Amino acid sequence: MTTPNDTIAAISTPLGEGGIGIVRLSGTDTLKIAGKIFFPVKDAKISSYASHTVHYGHIKSPGEGEVVDEVLLTSMKAPGTYTAEDMVEINCHGGVMPLKKVLELCLSEGARLAEPGEFTKRAFLNGRIDLSQAEAVLDIIRAKTDASRRIAVEQLRGAFSREISGIRDSLLSALSLIELAIDFTEEDVESPRVDEIGRRVREAREEAKRILETSDKGMVLAEGASVVICGRPNVGKSSLMNALLRHDRVIVTPVAGTTRDVIEESINIAGVRIRLSDTAGIIDTRDRVEIEGIKRSREKLDTADVIVLVLDSSVPVSDRDKEIFDAIAAREKVIVANKSDLPSAIDLEKTSAMFGGEEVFKVSALEKEGLDRLEDAIAEKLFKGSVDIPEGAVVTNIRHKKTLEKAIESVERALETLREEYNGELIASDLNEAVRQLGLITGETVEDGVLDRIFSQFCIGK
Ligand code: GDP
Repeated sequence: MTTPNDTIAAISTPLGEGGIGIVRLSGTDTLKIAGKIFFPVKDAKISSYASHTVHYGHIKSPGEGEVVDEVLLTSMKAPGTYTAEDMVEINCHGGVMPLKKVLELCLSEGARLAEPGEFTKRAFLNGRIDLSQAEAVLDIIRAKTDASRRIAVEQLRGAFSREISGIRDSLLSALSLIELAIDFTEEDVESPRVDEIGRRVREAREEAKRILETSDKGMVLAEGASVVICGRPNVGKSSLMNALLRHDRVIVTPVAGTTRDVIEESINIAGVRIRLSDTAGIIDTRDRVEIEGIKRSREKLDTADVIVLVLDSSVPVSDRDKEIFDAIAAREKVIVANKSDLPSAIDLEKTSAMFGGEEVFKVSALEKEGLDRLEDAIAEKLFKGSVDIPEGAVVTNIRHKKTLEKAIESVERALETLREEYNGELIASDLNEAVRQLGLITGETVEDGVLDRIFSQFCIGK
């Protein structure tokens, strides 16, 4: 990876009308470029400004001298800046025209238009943050709930990076012991050394596994959870979904790109974003082979963190209810007996026994009764009791999870070889692979496309 040497510029605030709008510059020629278009009212020239100071003045086009806008300019010098390069931020009036004009002037004076996420990418390329911290920046911007914001801020502070690097270091230290003895066979290598290699690798494995275990909860806190409502026709799935949506006045945002068959909306349970979907359109098929309907909703069900199975308590449990239960028996689920406002035709205890001993929650979607307890039950399944953010490193995204899993696989293979018969080269090759995988999380190793994939999700100017 090479460190960048040109100067980039972009409008860093959303385009529209607002109080202020900011044009940002970063790179070696930042002060030179800003100096040509910024005319301070009282202060001396830009080159003499102390780092992290704010100055009042005008932006003018160099040739015509026409005043483009009245601004405040912040000058920040490398390396203590967002990108670790010289930076300038120009606070303009918050309108499209002043911002565009100021940006144009920066570009005509030698800056290049920044790519999406390029400021953050530079912070990474210049070594100020690692890749997982850059991803955390994106997570903070996108956070829809307080929980997702908090967990992203923790990641940006570096706990995750530090622990992943710690594991990597343990593996590297084991590797160095192997390297010393690479040409030896089992008999030649002293057993204390083999023991020591085993100890370090096992330690790394335990640590990696412990971090991986945080992924279920971490990903739910960071990205939200998916809860799918299912059940046979007319038990009240849509009514329950609507009741839950209205019950939680905090509707986060409707989710774009949902399939035609599945309605999906977001609610907030215990400060966590819950994507709630109703499979009504799918399971309601009255096909002869009704189970086919379940198959079609499989995809939604497969990715659900919790499934809510709705029963109609005003009629006895049917074979159809049981069939649906069997299809989801192995999953995290909450069983709901809806229509509790009507005379009951089911016995809660017996019903619970029929449905794997799961507690059955009485609810009336119509009368909005029992919704709090139902939400608590969903939260209990999702967070196993508490929504507290786990201490230390937490896995918050699928990229980290998959990469960590691959690293653990390689470590396990190395340990297996070590148990069977000492083979330095084979063990080293597996450990090197694990080190490479861990490096992909923090960005010490980069693979084609990974950086682009990550930074292209940012907006321009971040
Ligand atoms: P879905 O097919 O499972 O989505 O069921 P719907 O939500 O469309 O409801 C089917 C019928 O049951 C409708 O006539 C609803 O008004 C009724 N219904 C739903 N929930 C309740 C409830 O809690 N109590 C009563 N009495 N009727 C309900």
